[in-house]
Amino acid sequence: MSFLRISNVVTKSAFRRPATRLYPFERREPFKGTRGHIAFEIDTCVFCNLCAKKCPTEAIVCDRKEKRWQIDHLKCILCGNCVDSCRKGCLTQMNTPAPPMTAHHVEVFKADAQTPEEFEKERAKAGNPAPARGGCGDEDGDSCAAS
Ligand code: SF4
Ligand code: SF4
Repeated sequence: MSFLRISNVVTKSAFRRPATRLYPFERREPFKGTRGHIAFEIDTCVFCNLCAKKCPTEAIVCDRKEKRWQIDHLKCILCGNCVDSCRKGCLTQMNTPAPPMTAHHVEVFKADAQTPEEFEKERAKAGNPAPARGGCGDEDGDSCAAS
């Protein structure tokens, strides 16, 4: 490439908008229909277990007796089967990905939870990390209470 062509490219590039974004400060709007993470609403859940049965990767575990529902976002392949199978409308497929995690974190929801103060006390006692998006849990998914 001749010097003239190179300087031409450099000059043009200097006045053009950058081709990349300043991620994570600047994020692209998700495309319509993007399959993002699964959001759960415990208030209407009847713990029927249908979503867990339809999940091909066993990312969902539902315990009717304990009224506990949990999802492992690292196992989820965003197929949307659980959303389609839930007759109570508790599950929504968002169009954004699950937030990044630095450790394996299973999101756990439990009905009949304590008050926020009781929950905080119990969580501090157990030394558990802060809950994500209203759920709570740890790597084994066996701690917690929140709604
Ligand atoms: S299918 Fe819906 S109501 Fe049944 S356990 Fe799953 S989320 Fe709850
Ligand atoms: S989207 Fe698919 S893989 Fe993910 S939890 Fe639902 S059924 Fe399982």
